[in-house]
Amino acid sequence: MIDAHIHADCRPYEDFERMAVAGIESAITLAHDPMRMSTSAVVIDHFYRILENDFSRAENNGLTLKAALGLHPRSICPDYEVVLQKLPEFLDREDVVALGEVGLETASEIEKKVFKTQLSMADKMGMKVVVHTPRQNKREITIKTLSIINETVDPTLVVVDHVDPSIIDLMADFDGMLGITVQPQKMTPLEAVQLLEEKFSEYGPERFMLDSDMSSSPSDPLSVPKTVHKLKLSGWDNKKINMLSYKNAADFYSF
Ligand SMILES: [Zn+2]
Repeated sequence: MIDAHIHADCRPYEDFERMAVAGIESAITLAHDPMRMSTSAVVIDHFYRILENDFSRAENNGLTLKAALGLHPRSICPDYEVVLQKLPEFLDREDVVALGEVGLETASEIEKKVFKTQLSMADKMGMKVVVHTPRQNKREITIKTLSIINETVDPTLVVVDHVDPSIIDLMADFDGMLGITVQPQKMTPLEAVQLLEEKFSEYGPERFMLDSDMSSSPSDPLSVPKTVHKLKLSGWDNKKINMLSYKNAADFYSF
């Protein structure tokens, strides 16, 4: 299995062993720690923490990490331009598979500017992008997010994440990938199964990937295996389960 969206830097060492024991082979760990990013140096050090410390913490437990790096809307430091200048160098690394997570939280002017700049960067570099959708005003902000994506970047490079029943209908006009986040307070494994049963065929089975978004918020490192278990109990065949929990993410990120 692949957990397609985690924040390894916010999690204890023991979580990686639990994930590996439950059958997760790889995970994408994304930039953004909800700490104060008072200067670009803090953001860059956060990137290095992911690439140096977290990769080895996971590797020691048999879990392979790949990274997505970028400026999250809640991490925009006053000298954010320094981060944007250095970002392409990070994106060129072999262990960095995407730009992310990026997006809009409140859709302020500065958030839109930083989001657009990063989407253009990804488009130019042919880099995959992980786009966040917020908990607050989710539908309204997602509409704005999708319209910026559609005018700035090749949408097939993009995964829009944390898609839930409140926004899935908006994805009808979007050609990229859809991340389904199974996390306490967001969606239970059973709710994810219900959503997938309704939308899997309609939107295309090759477009969905599962993730836990495990972070400093209430999280379950075993979200993906628990959802796979519920899918099996609901009678889903192995091929479809494999697409959701492994193949689609592996293909998208060229594992
Ligand atoms: Zn996240």
